[in-house]
Amino acid sequence: MPRSPAIQFVSAGLSQPKKRDHVLARRQLYLNYGALTLASQLNLNGHGVHLRHGEHEDPDTFAERLFADGRLPSAWPLMVSMPSFYALSWTQAFCRAVKRRDPKANIVIGGRWVTGPDPAWLHGLIPDADVVVPGFGEPRIWGILGLPSPQGTGDGEAPPAFGLHHRLVDGFERFQPSIETSRGCGMGCAFCEERGIPLSRLRDPLRLAELLAETVAEYGNGEIHPYFQSSFFLPNPRWATELQRTIRDRDLAVPWRCETRVDGLKPETVAALAASGLKVIDLGLETASPTQVRAMRKARDPERYLRAASQLLEACAANGVWVKVNVLLYAGETAETLAESQAWLDQHAHAIKGVSVGPVVAFGPPGLAGPFLRDLAAHGARPVDEGSAASTGVTQLHLSPRIDQAEAERLSLELSRRYMDADAYFDLKSFSYYPRGYTRGDFDRDVADCDAERLPFRVAPYSGATPCQPA
Ligand code: SF4
Repeated sequence: MPRSPAIQFVSAGLSQPKKRDHVLARRQLYLNYGALTLASQLNLNGHGVHLRHGEHEDPDTFAERLFADGRLPSAWPLMVSMPSFYALSWTQAFCRAVKRRDPKANIVIGGRWVTGPDPAWLHGLIPDADVVVPGFGEPRIWGILGLPSPQGTGDGEAPPAFGLHHRLVDGFERFQPSIETSRGCGMGCAFCEERGIPLSRLRDPLRLAELLAETVAEYGNGEIHPYFQSSFFLPNPRWATELQRTIRDRDLAVPWRCETRVDGLKPETVAALAASGLKVIDLGLETASPTQVRAMRKARDPERYLRAASQLLEACAANGVWVKVNVLLYAGETAETLAESQAWLDQHAHAIKGVSVGPVVAFGPPGLAGPFLRDLAAHGARPVDEGSAASTGVTQLHLSPRIDQAEAERLSLELSRRYMDADAYFDLKSFSYYPRGYTRGDFDRDVADCDAERLPFRVAPYSGATPCQPA
């Protein structure tokens, strides 16, 4: 069989969805913009490249399709990007299937969050891989492929100057596009891998508008909702005003989404951002319990933190920006701390479009997860399975003596349903994560096929039950 002359990237899929397994969760698409950055970089330098996402497809079937479509075998190493530790079992099975069909395949595993902590450990778990590459791929990709490194190869600490070539993605029309706006954060939250990675400068607003225009053209002027990718989107008022002016001058009416901290983005920037197209913010509130704010090392002054959160939510409501609040049930959580969060969310419910609630999880092999698990244990949490860090890189937790894993899941669902109905959930998910052609009718049919007890939104009117009662 002839070998394909194009370089093949695969974004590893999931054997089952990250949070809860139901039909709706399997509809979600996550563009692997890290892998697409590398693919775009190679393409800019004249190489034929393809990126296919494993999504929730069976890994054997997925591998078969790559061979049937002539993508494999390839004359180049096969680049497999793991976006999270949850992709491990899928990646293991996929690499096995590729090697069965093509024993000479040279499989390279990347995905810096997964490969970085302990490449040797990961390689031990994926024996069919040939190379595991830690860290950012941008400066390394040329050496891996045996190519001379061109001028201007970034070091990975800031987004590259070029934008993503979405058309390199198989079925790109199904995915909402991404534009990377900054990297890193460095705000020190105990549970977050970005805690010690310095925040890069935000992309220049003029260049951002150019990339937005290029992305609109890539999609043939169809409706898109780009995600401005930053872990901590932190524009100042001058930047926001400049973006608004540039977008207005170019007549780029494109609704977009971003993610930030509640005490980073200043309320006075929201009007200009909304006028630039900002429609949805994912806000990492995590908790409104002062005790838990401190336990997470989210902020030193919880009162100030929550005051800033209130002001930002009000500014978003005043400017028609939908806010999805992320809530993290953390080590040491009790009925009292949950009631504090719930009371705060109740007060701000008018400004909240939806919430995403889940318990803390420790990621990584024992060397990485160990210190964090000890920190969590000091707050009363304990692993569900002591061996899972070594075997999977994912450690689920019993949060406290009163809230075990099952109770944390029940409370997460209760709290989500308190603030989110099916309409809000559909609006938020279809804005970014459902395939672009997925309609409300598709959604309603999928909802009918799901066990309503496992859905994080209200299908029927809210019953009035509270997620928890103080003891
Ligand atoms: S602010 Fe967000 S991105 Fe930054 S360390 Fe905290 S959780 Fe991570």
